[in-house]
Amino acid sequence: MIATKIQNRLHQIPQAWRSSSLSLAIAYNLGAELAPHCSAGASPSLPMNLQDRFVSEKLKLPQGKPAGFTISRDMVCGDQPEVSFIQNKWRSNMCALRSIRLIICLLALLTLQIETRAVEKLGPAPDDSFSIVLIPDTQAYKGAGTKSQPDSREQITNKIFQDHTEWIAENIDRQNIVFVSHVGDIVDKNVDEQWEVAQACMNKLHGKIPYGISVGNHDMTSSGDSSLFQKYFPQSRFEHFDWYAGSYAGSPMGKHISGNNANSCQLFSVGDIDFIFLHLECNAPDDVLGWANDLLKRYADRTAFITSHMGWGPRVIPKDNDEYITGEKGRMTWLKIHGKRGNTPQQMWEKCYRMHANLVAVFSGDQSRTQAFQAATVGDHGNMVHEFMQDYGSGWLRMYRFTSLKSRVHCKAITFNPRTEELCDGVSLVPAREAHQFEFEFSLQLQPVANAK
Ligand SMILES: [Zn+2]
Repeated sequence: MIATKIQNRLHQIPQAWRSSSLSLAIAYNLGAELAPHCSAGASPSLPMNLQDRFVSEKLKLPQGKPAGFTISRDMVCGDQPEVSFIQNKWRSNMCALRSIRLIICLLALLTLQIETRAVEKLGPAPDDSFSIVLIPDTQAYKGAGTKSQPDSREQITNKIFQDHTEWIAENIDRQNIVFVSHVGDIVDKNVDEQWEVAQACMNKLHGKIPYGISVGNHDMTSSGDSSLFQKYFPQSRFEHFDWYAGSYAGSPMGKHISGNNANSCQLFSVGDIDFIFLHLECNAPDDVLGWANDLLKRYADRTAFITSHMGWGPRVIPKDNDEYITGEKGRMTWLKIHGKRGNTPQQMWEKCYRMHANLVAVFSGDQSRTQAFQAATVGDHGNMVHEFMQDYGSGWLRMYRFTSLKSRVHCKAITFNPRTEELCDGVSLVPAREAHQFEFEFSLQLQPVANAK
């Protein structure tokens, strides 16, 4: 019944009114109407496409407490529906608020006449800039055996992943894209069927632009066996490219742990600026960090970036689903892979990141209930190390656009929808626009080293 109600309401919103305050008001009404049906922990019945969203966003209704929720503006009128949980204080006020919803609708109708919401779009890159694209976790697989559609018999697809790599391939020149980094959780289930789709998506970039992949916790077993990743993205796939600078040989237990491109290095240059990019697997053990430290020292005259799957999110391991959202956010002090051999993001900072004067930024994903986070910490050499996590799940793509300013580089982070090229104004869990559109600068005054290549 609720599902029908939602569907009916969605269909009532004319195309021309989308993104208007009227649809906001209708969305508000939806939330108010649904609240009474969602008490005592009962899971409301959502239309199938919205249920998929719950699964792919990894958003679960809180257990054992009133599960009021609203349908956000994006869910009603955007390409990337999102679900916002209503805080307790809002739930308790819901009944009172229902009485004024008619007024809100009327006001919305009035303002509709004068309001034109200007959606900012991604323009072409200025001639003097270049861009690096970060692909957030790409776990939104559909079809047979996937988490979102376990009973489906359809062929497995991943529309979001496909949109991402297609857009990048088509915009390499227009956006002056010089490198692509995947933060990991390339697959959702570590099975051949999903890896085949992932490889097909990444093939759209292969041979066109340098790229690297950080192996996520979903991309290997809990003991760190990344054999399937290595089957579809082995070192041999990359070693003929001049920008590919090799990978870690593998753990003492064998190449299937940490070897064969599971930890990789890329070198590229843009104008006078030389870069080293490392892709480290989730919870990289000490032997991998030793390899990374050696490379960062050997190439100390290059500006360094690192992508590693886990970084920022709930600082301590959440005790329940709610804490993934409400828990204190910070550099994570818990791990998922490699057991006692694994290093938490905080340990990776202590044992690697903080020690290198040339390290400018560390990128991560993994936390769809943190979605976006940015931090900057002074390293041991007085250099500022920026850390950015991005895991939208719902289709937003993150691009870092750089402009050289003599001894400094200015960077503009742009989060956008590759299908419409509309910029992200906010998402349900992180509503502030500046979490998704922001700028920073870094110095190019690096330490020359005798044995630099
Ligand atoms: Zn993950």
